[in-house]
Amino acid sequence: MPTRIIAVANQKGGVGKTTTAVNLSACIAAAGQRVLMVDLDPQANATSGLGVEKVPGASSYGPILGEGGMLDKVRPTAWERLEIIPSELDLCGADVEIARMENHLARVKTVLQPVLDCGRFDLVLVDCPPSLGILTLNAFVAAEGLLVPLQCEYFALEGVTMLKTIVEQLRNSGMNPGLGFLGIAMTMYDARTNLSRSVVEEVRAHFGEFVFETMIPRTTRIAEAPSHGKPVIYHDPYNAGSSAYEVLAQEVMQRLGLVSSA
Ligand code: ADP
Ligand code: MG
Repeated sequence: MPTRIIAVANQKGGVGKTTTAVNLSACIAAAGQRVLMVDLDPQANATSGLGVEKVPGASSYGPILGEGGMLDKVRPTAWERLEIIPSELDLCGADVEIARMENHLARVKTVLQPVLDCGRFDLVLVDCPPSLGILTLNAFVAAEGLLVPLQCEYFALEGVTMLKTIVEQLRNSGMNPGLGFLGIAMTMYDARTNLSRSVVEEVRAHFGEFVFETMIPRTTRIAEAPSHGKPVIYHDPYNAGSSAYEVLAQEVMQRLGLVSSA
């Protein structure tokens, strides 16, 4: 089976991209799949969230600019079947430098090819920065699908409209004819508020079955897990957030046709 590659994206910051990328990668690895997280955000929150140190020169920056290979950047995490290409601050200069290169929207796709071809991974999850800059567009060109976390608050929908336009442009331009939406994940859901419920209702009315059934609740454990360098399933396995991400992971795997051994 070829390696699958999914970009976790939403141009808005603070909607739960990194939290979702980190926790899904852990849950999917725990379910038996070999997962590679690619942290493309210069803020490197996914890197520290998985307990990996930020080291100068350890990110995908060099390979993207033509120096060295991505496979050499793969680092282990503390968990089986879960590896990472970390990020660090140098990536924040990447936008400008990539823009000067030939095929600048396909740089990540090109350098990830050996990672896909080596057969070491079943799934690559890319954690995108909170913008529609060159790094994010590179992730869109490399990916087969987008997983879009949406925070349960007003204006959640507006960003998705913009994402749809970009996906259509990338498809029509031939940059990535096969690009699609894997699904929309509702995050920071608070069942006690009318706001959360009405936003979910509105998003479901708009996007129907694209929206994953599992909603991620707002919990303190999810928020504090990164400060321990752990996904929430290893920070507090019995938390509602842990079970939610486990169930969401099953949905994601099902949509991708990946089999769970858990
Ligand atoms: P993004 O990557 O989209 O910028 P993050 O995943 O970093 O967003 O989340 C933004 C903030 O919200 C972080 O402080 C994170 O810990 C917190 N957060 C995300 N999801 C939850 C949740 N389900 N419950 C509680 N806090 C959350
Ligand atoms: Mg983030």
